[in-house]
Amino acid sequence: LEEQNRFRNEHGIKVVGRHVPGALQSFSDLVERYKVSQGLVDTVTQCGYSEPTPVQRQALPCMLEDRQIFACAPTGSGKTAAFLLPILHSLGAPAGGPRALVLCPTRELAHQIYRELLRLSAATQLRCSVVRSVKESKVKEREATIRKSDIVISTPNRLCYLLNQDAVNITLDKVRWLIIDEADKLFEGSSEQSGDFRQQLDQVLAACGSKQRRIAMFSATHTPSLAKWCRHHMRGLINITVGQRQL
Ligand code: ADP
Ligand code: MG
Repeated sequence: LEEQNRFRNEHGIKVVGRHVPGALQSFSDLVERYKVSQGLVDTVTQCGYSEPTPVQRQALPCMLEDRQIFACAPTGSGKTAAFLLPILHSLGAPAGGPRALVLCPTRELAHQIYRELLRLSAATQLRCSVVRSVKESKVKEREATIRKSDIVISTPNRLCYLLNQDAVNITLDKVRWLIIDEADKLFEGSSEQSGDFRQQLDQVLAACGSKQRRIAMFSATHTPSLAKWCRHHMRGLINITVGQRQL
């Protein structure tokens, strides 16, 4: 345990929670510890990622052990792969019907995450999609895409717009991982916007009704209201902070 703490300290990782899984020494640890396929680890290496970043060292084992996390780490510290890799491993074979859902504040960000997902999923058969413009003529097309995707990335606005269409039937009851990325921006936008977001999040949570549903939240900043939301909604929560807390 002391050794674990020293290792975390060396990497600027702080954790709060019960029975926190040990941090990762290297990506190849994933094969032995979690039976992650060598193909997925090879893809990571081919992306040029030789060592996990601090947030990846701690978030990967937590999510691979099905623990809900609130991870705060600076911009550019590799949070995207920190949530995509556990999803790619845990979903296994394609099944159709979203089993992982990533919410983020803007379309641009959604596309960035999608590009990273396409790279990291290269060795898998999983189907990934990003929800594009939901203008009326495209609604049925979007529905069809979501229904056959294993992993869906969207802004809350677009997803909820689709969920609220009478003619659209999208079920999220197979969602095992709900990721809230750039949570600080989603929760702390202008008060009007963030009010919308809380309502949208309630709707998404109600739709993601699986007992196995887990939430992982990622943010560059740590705010009291985010921390409070996590305490109330995430059983067995582990808080991960990398570097100085940025307020
Ligand atoms: P964040 O979401 O924390 O702002 P990103 O996930 O966008 O950061 O990652 C920032 C950059 O770092 C991206 O270009 C990504 O490809 C790269 N990256 C991610 N993980 C690693 C790693 N383990 N080693 C090297 N580069 C990485
Ligand atoms: Mg990010």
